[in-house]
Amino acid sequence: MTDQTDNATKLCPNCGKPVGERTRGMRKSFCSSSCRLEFRNRSNSEGKVVISLLKVWMETRHASPKSEDPEEQRRARVCKEARREVTKIVRTFRDRDEEAGRPSLVDYVEELLAEGMYDDRTRK
Ligand SMILES: [Zn+2]
Repeated sequence: MTDQTDNATKLCPNCGKPVGERTRGMRKSFCSSSCRLEFRNRSNSEGKVVISLLKVWMETRHASPKSEDPEEQRRARVCKEARREVTKIVRTFRDRDEEAGRPSLVDYVEELLAEGMYDDRTRK
């Protein structure tokens, strides 16, 4: 069985350097506290920009543009525009990550998902 908490080849999602060994059995995702803070601050500021668009997209995603109801048509139009805008914005964020030499977030997100981190954030 593979130890998923093995940090030997794990890279910092902020700078791409190895994160180093775990300390006191704690999960270690970042190479340093400054990288953790920088990553969190960037995630917070990027999240603020897209959260309303994502909520509207989620709320209106089943609205049909072919509906006879003008309100339904409006919701479908707003959905499409919100999706287009959020795609454009997140592409900009990804481009900035690449330009800054930051690594892909696939490994980081996979680990969070495996630990149920995203689910936990929705619970009180
Ligand atoms: Zn780092």
